[in-house]
Amino acid sequence: MPRQGFPVSGRNGADVLADLARLQAADVPWEAGLTWAFVYHGDDDVYDVASRAYASAAPLNALGNEAFTSLAAIERDLVAMLGNLLGAPDAAGSATSGGSESIFLAVKSARDRLRGVGHRGRVEILVPTTAHPAFDKAAHYLDVTVRKVPVAAHQRADVAAMRSAVTPDTAMIVGSAPSYPHGVVDPIGEIGAVAAEHDLWFHVDACVGGFVLPFIDPADRTIPVFDFRVPAVRSMSLDPHKYGYALKGISMLLHRDADGFAYQKFAVSGWPGGSYETPNLTGTRPGAPMTSAWAVINHLGRDGFERLVKRAVDATDRLADGISSLPGFFVPVAPQATLLAFASDRHDITAVAEGLRQRGWVLGVQGPPPSIHLTVSPNHDQIVEKFVTDLAAAAADAEAGRLAPGGEASFRYA
Ligand SMILES: *Cc1c(COP(=O)(O)O)cnc(C)c1O
Repeated sequence: MPRQGFPVSGRNGADVLADLARLQAADVPWEAGLTWAFVYHGDDDVYDVASRAYASAAPLNALGNEAFTSLAAIERDLVAMLGNLLGAPDAAGSATSGGSESIFLAVKSARDRLRGVGHRGRVEILVPTTAHPAFDKAAHYLDVTVRKVPVAAHQRADVAAMRSAVTPDTAMIVGSAPSYPHGVVDPIGEIGAVAAEHDLWFHVDACVGGFVLPFIDPADRTIPVFDFRVPAVRSMSLDPHKYGYALKGISMLLHRDADGFAYQKFAVSGWPGGSYETPNLTGTRPGAPMTSAWAVINHLGRDGFERLVKRAVDATDRLADGISSLPGFFVPVAPQATLLAFASDRHDITAVAEGLRQRGWVLGVQGPPPSIHLTVSPNHDQIVEKFVTDLAAAAADAEAGRLAPGGEASFRYA
């Protein structure tokens, strides 16, 4: 195919939009719940509020929040509402473009704090192997070394091993609430004790769980205290564009207080364009994502989130039961939130994944240990039985040798 040239003359908007609709028609039909990653769908009502709020703010720029007072107010409200939700009534922080940017800025804050007390030379961060690759990416950009500590058999951080891995160069220690691969919560209180012993920056990555865990009865799924109620926690990331049902492009980085937030900011003076100070990696910041997050939170409230989280949790449990009832499949670690991994002691799991893909499902294979990962949204409660039926059929195909083993990576840039 020839590469597309730059259009010589314009065409009318309706024709262009029709072309766009044709392109998008080939995307996975996410509304039907076929995606087990990438899309977090609450319900049509919440999507409607999110997208109308988003469109209302599309031209606004939070770089100039003196001009766009709505965005200043919205960002202040988001920090305050979420700080209160997570046990930090004096929280400070900002809206970022996504979990990766929040994590980048948390690593920067920790690095700058260690350097601020006179540390010279290399800087390390300590993460469990299950922590998100955004920590590796941040460390790479920020010239920081990542030390990865293997998790224990239950896939949670091994706190004793983390304690032994602390060195004088350690700036930061990390726990996930929950981790992405198996959806289990690291022992945040115990990691907090290590952080306190060594005066480390403790970041809790609640990117995927920040809008789920607070709305589950902890006794139901033995969820430990995972937030700022653990005194050593200095910062937390949580993503409205995941289970906060906002449209894409927003995460929140919260610090316990304004002192922590100060490490996040960057300022430069002497630029002929004016004085320039921003807490974020980005300059221009779209107002639409934070506006949609604010609208959804106010629309749903605690009871609305509880209702949607219950649907997703119930679907997760029904999936776990249905999958484990099939011969040859098991769920290695009981999920605590709405992420689920399952494995097989009989089939090549990559072949099974291939069979599921042939049936229209979008999912990823991860490991070690090799398993298929499902991120469960409320609207998945409609398709649990269909998925389990398709899994049985994919397993039969794998058993009969009708499927070639597939690839492992879930997040590839094509
Ligand atoms: C999604 C996720 C991230 C990264 O967030 P992006 O918005 O994709 O940049 C970080 N940590 C966890 C646990 C996640 O699930």
